[in-house]
Amino acid sequence: LMNKEMFLKALELLSDRIIDSKELLNDLDTQIGDSDHGSNMTRGFTEAKKKIDMVKDKDFSTILKTIAMTLISTVGGASGPLYGTAFLKASMSVKDREVLVGEDFIKIHENVISGIKQRGHAERGHKTMLDAIIPAYEAFKESIEAGEDLKIASQKATDAAKEGMEYTKGIKAIKGRASFLGDRSIGHVDPGATSSFIIINAINDVIK
Ligand code: ADP
Ligand code: MG
Ligand code: MG
Repeated sequence: LMNKEMFLKALELLSDRIIDSKELLNDLDTQIGDSDHGSNMTRGFTEAKKKIDMVKDKDFSTILKTIAMTLISTVGGASGPLYGTAFLKASMSVKDREVLVGEDFIKIHENVISGIKQRGHAERGHKTMLDAIIPAYEAFKESIEAGEDLKIASQKATDAAKEGMEYTKGIKAIKGRASFLGDRSIGHVDPGATSSFIIINAINDVIK
């Protein structure tokens, strides 16, 4: 179960981890893009942290919606609207919730994935953030449906996200700026799959 205190801690931790990964994400984006994924995300999550502090007494949905709006207006690039949509869809999944349980996280995952797909027209295997998020969702859902607790499900989701991120190294980009490189995109891990893994991993670190 995730209560309000853990929820705020997770948001703070994932923001800090993204900010700490600025160089790594820029370096990955230098290989197959335009070197700005870390800078884009750091700009967004630095601003999101300030906004979270201003709305921390509000409900889950309002807080997530505030993050979504902040990311949409500050991140830029391809990833800004996509992560903005992801947080907006997450906010719509937790209306009236006071704690989050496994079923809530399944719904969050489903809405986040459909939102990103709708917005970016990418599928799994196109070398994007979806290659980390979709495997995380599948592992999470399978674990919760098998009756395992939130910590185990979340650890399995994190492991699957990491595998999915690593898998992007061997495949060719079909969507996003990296697709302009064609076969030359093969051999490099996708920056957006990496930022998604970092976010999922941070959330997992808060779940006890
Ligand atoms: P830009 O490519 O505009 O500079 P960023 O560098 O911030 O934007 O983000 C690049 C990341 O966005 C990619 O690594 C990829 O994971 C993700 N991405 C790009 N296009 C799509 C898409 N259509 N669907 C899902 N993710 C995408
Ligand atoms: Mg870029
Ligand atoms: Mg760019």
